Amino acid sequence: MQIQYIQVAIPVPMRQLFTYQVPIDLQTPAVHIGERVIVPFGPRELVGIVLSIDKQSEIPDSKLKAIKSRIVDSFHFDATLLSFLKRCADYYHHPIGDVLKQALPVLLRQIKQPDISLPTRWRCSASPQEAELDSLKKKASKQFEIFQLINKHQSITWVELRTLGFSKSQLTALENKNLVEQYQSSPVTYQWQQYTLNEENKLSLSLEQAIIVTAIKQTHDEFACHLIDGITGSGKTEVYLQAMEKVLAADKQVLVLVPEIGLTPQTLNRFEQRFNVPIGLHHSGLNDNERLQTWLEAQRGSAAIVIGTRSAIFTPLHKLGLIIVDEEHDGSFKQQDSFRYHARDIAILRARQLNIPIVLGSATPSLETLQNALVGKYFYHQLLNRPGRSQTAKIELIDVAKQQMQHGLSSYLKTAIDDTLARGEQVLIFLNRRGYAPAITCMTCQWIADCQRCNKPYTLHRGQQLLICHHCGSQKRIPIQCPNCNSIDIQSMGQGTEQLELRIEEFFPDYSTVRIDRDSTRRKGALTKLLHEITNNKHQILIGTQMLAKGHHFPNVTLVALLDVDGALFSFDFRAAEHMAQLLVQVAGRAGRESKQGTVMVQTNFPEHPLLQDLVHNGYNHFAQYALTERKQANLPPFGFQALFRADANYPSYPEKFLRALTTNSYAGCELIGPVPAAMEKRAGKYRFHLIVQAKSRKLLHQAVWQLLQTIPKNDWQNKVRWSVDIDPIDLNW
Ligand code: ADP
Ligand code: ZN
Ligand code: ZN
Repeated sequence: MQIQYIQVAIPVPMRQLFTYQVPIDLQTPAVHIGERVIVPFGPRELVGIVLSIDKQSEIPDSKLKAIKSRIVDSFHFDATLLSFLKRCADYYHHPIGDVLKQALPVLLRQIKQPDISLPTRWRCSASPQEAELDSLKKKASKQFEIFQLINKHQSITWVELRTLGFSKSQLTALENKNLVEQYQSSPVTYQWQQYTLNEENKLSLSLEQAIIVTAIKQTHDEFACHLIDGITGSGKTEVYLQAMEKVLAADKQVLVLVPEIGLTPQTLNRFEQRFNVPIGLHHSGLNDNERLQTWLEAQRGSAAIVIGTRSAIFTPLHKLGLIIVDEEHDGSFKQQDSFRYHARDIAILRARQLNIPIVLGSATPSLETLQNALVGKYFYHQLLNRPGRSQTAKIELIDVAKQQMQHGLSSYLKTAIDDTLARGEQVLIFLNRRGYAPAITCMTCQWIADCQRCNKPYTLHRGQQLLICHHCGSQKRIPIQCPNCNSIDIQSMGQGTEQLELRIEEFFPDYSTVRIDRDSTRRKGALTKLLHEITNNKHQILIGTQMLAKGHHFPNVTLVALLDVDGALFSFDFRAAEHMAQLLVQVAGRAGRESKQGTVMVQTNFPEHPLLQDLVHNGYNHFAQYALTERKQANLPPFGFQALFRADANYPSYPEKFLRALTTNSYAGCELIGPVPAAMEKRAGKYRFHLIVQAKSRKLLHQAVWQLLQTIPKNDWQNKVRWSVDIDPIDLNW
């Protein structure tokens, strides 16, 4: 035996790999590529990943350090996942060490390895008499539901039950009745041979749907990207479910990506009801240990389906056979800090690498995806009808200039709300502004309470009795007196959801109003509870921010009102129109499912605006095609390719000079735009500047970014700023 040399990826902001020695006494068992090692790095010790093993090194032994120790367990990256992650690092020009770190569950990144317990699951421990079940059904219907679910699935995790809205006490009660028990799932890879489909829940497909399912099944053993462009409620989920059948029956796994809060009990329920297979979940409501459990179950092959948000794309799945990205246009698929990947885009990369199909679904496809579908790179499927008698909502524009307004509500809208409530139906009012009011001001001298760190007004939160900056999170007591002129006449300006809730309660005292936004759903389980109450008609008026635009189905909502959408009509960000159109159509999609016709009312000062007119009269698809021609003329994405260099510092001159130094060379086929101050020039005390690289082709973009990155070590300002590069940026405000 002799010393080995390994190249290790370490989570530091440097782009190279680091060489270490593996002393002979640490070489048994044999070192593997993809395993974790603990290495000295400066004064610290870090967990790194082994990326190559050599018998010699070009660097002299005297300059090399030895690794400290190895973490020998079964949780390592396999070759396929590693090569996928390396390609992600290359594509986003992001340090590989950080990419690997982010792909690893938090508990596996630590030097001191926690006690990793094997995943536990629940199963039935008895076959109760019919009489016993009957009495359970009558006396404890929730417990009965849990029992049925476990019985059907043979096995389930606590996380699944919790995500479905059940409580621990319900489960414990069942356990105390000796009906269910906890057990440790087998550590060896097992296959879900018991796979069965609950045929009775299957819907018979419409012709439109059947054609898509067939097309997806035909590409089951090759890379193919399918876009399902189908209005909300047109049956996309049913298509996913039926397309999954063949994959699961072939003993392969399915990965389903959903937006941040798209994983509702309703969605999960449909997967649970359809397939009797172990399902792994990955979302923000889980703790580190629970996330690790999903990771392990997926890696071992004991989870057949993994449903999760953005970072679930890094789940190790040996036998992945199909990827589904639901609501592919959703902004939450893009990570907005450090490793700025887009989960949809790298999902396509992963599918290509594995030679498997991927399905993207949306009622409002992103222009990037739509363009790829239109030119034939993707299979393009449309679902134009809602199954059954369910009709799509009709959109009306309300010209607020011609209306008497009361607390942000036009009299026309108020009447419509009254009529809807009188018919026993529900109303959803959409206002994308949290808090009580977006500013407070002195009525004597016009002073406005600004956050000094961001130069933007504080938002008033009356419930918490605080001023909160929505840009940096800083908080302040509400002043009693104007600090400028000592006047005590301080008032709020504008209206947020918290205030709207109070006004609506005054206007419609006979009905129950509920507010759904980040503030009202902070507590664990709060959202699930509120959604449940809404479905049960406990509340008739729903007020919400864009949280309400996603995934939830409210069958009894027949009127959706959007109070204020004008901001997006005149934004400098070229994507603002696309985002606003998506939001409007998505919110509209909440109305009038089932058999009732829904109406959407949009209050605006600009009812003649071409974008609104186009959306109302011709629909999203028409709007999108028009927006694509505009993008083409301006060489903007998806016709041009962008990277965004961001820099910030305590003084404006530093980031500006740092970025200016990047513009000294020119790059073939590329235009450098900037440096310019960011739309929000100051945030949390830092001055922020942008430099956009715009290229004719993706290849030229990558070349230019690579060359630009080479110049940074020589950039005089690099140590004075914090900088990052964002490939395919989607939000130019940040
Ligand atoms: P989407 O995912 O496009 O919003 P869903 O798959 O949730 O649509 O379908 C919307 C509604 O239509 C659901 O209530 C679903 O049960 C029903 N549905 C879907 N496909 C069919 C079908 N082929 N026949 C009858 N009802 C269907
Ligand atoms: Zn004043
Ligand atoms: Zn601030």
